[in-house]
Amino acid sequence: MGAVLIFEKTTRGVFMIVTIKNNVETSQIDNLLEWIKSLGLSTHVSRGDTDMIIGLIGDTTKLDIDLLRSLDIVDSVTRIQETYKNANRKFHPENTVVNVDGHTFGNENFPIIAGPCSVESYEQVLETAKAVKASGATILRGGAFKPRTSPYSFQGLGCDGLEILRAVRKETGMPIVTEITSVRYIEEFEDVDIIQVGARNMQNFELLKELGRTGKKILLKRGLSATIEELLMSAEYLMAGGATDIILCERGIRTFEPMTRNTLDLSAIPLIKEKTHLPVIVDPSHASGLNRLVRPMSLAAVGAGCDGLIIEVHNNPARALCDGAQSLRPDQFDELVKAIDVMLPLVGKKRG
Ligand code: PEP
Ligand code: MN
Repeated sequence: MGAVLIFEKTTRGVFMIVTIKNNVETSQIDNLLEWIKSLGLSTHVSRGDTDMIIGLIGDTTKLDIDLLRSLDIVDSVTRIQETYKNANRKFHPENTVVNVDGHTFGNENFPIIAGPCSVESYEQVLETAKAVKASGATILRGGAFKPRTSPYSFQGLGCDGLEILRAVRKETGMPIVTEITSVRYIEEFEDVDIIQVGARNMQNFELLKELGRTGKKILLKRGLSATIEELLMSAEYLMAGGATDIILCERGIRTFEPMTRNTLDLSAIPLIKEKTHLPVIVDPSHASGLNRLVRPMSLAAVGAGCDGLIIEVHNNPARALCDGAQSLRPDQFDELVKAIDVMLPLVGKKRG
């Protein structure tokens, strides 16, 4: 390589370096430069004895990097800044703090969301909500629309489930978080405090676009096989539409290990916090799939610096219609919160 390019850091552009193969026709390079310029980018050409590299300066988000790589004359393309901008900490160094009825994610407070996997009845949700609230949970979870692997499994109570959540919110004063599975329910979710986008819908881009436009608070869970960058790109979809209050959730990824439902990616927590200003919470229930692993994984997640937890708790896990094996009993949850309280000062946080 006979040429070196040094770019100044700027927040205005997203850069790429294109290395051109040896012995290519000047006309081919001119064609390439013309195409790049037509996309509104400026170029910086640097020729060595045998090699040539082109620096692309400007917003390269609209450029198809795979198309560029596939060109005959192109040897390699290196992106030197990320394609997510709204979610990028480089362009927004301060933490985003998401405030849900006074419970804040992303600062020194550490809220715990708890509740059943799915809404089964008013009594079940109310009993569980009262128990988790007494132990220190501040936000109630519960799925009304359930994305199940089998169409024959319990699919959730749908809009009746949302009604139950509203009634329990009224009774307990706890804000609610519940999952949306389709754009066609957006109106029904109008008064939901935090709308959850589940792992299976993390890349449902039409849903993300529509939700982004509502400006509502969103809990975005990492997809089963999604990379950290893909998670951040999904957050970018929401933010490109106008949403600002987004909480990310690491909930385990699929690996070759069958002893746990998923593998909790603990290193994702500090990495995500490095890459983005958005808060990140952890779901140890779906990450492990096993009741007895929820406590150690919760404590590990606190140690890794997450901004909160979302934990499945059921008043009677043995009778749960969904995810009973990973759901904590209320007494186990109570014990866990006590252990979390011991750890929080070590990471400079307090339960809130
Ligand atoms: C859930 O929170 O109940 C759920 C289905 O989670 P995930 O989308 O992470 O699997
Ligand atoms: Mn579940």
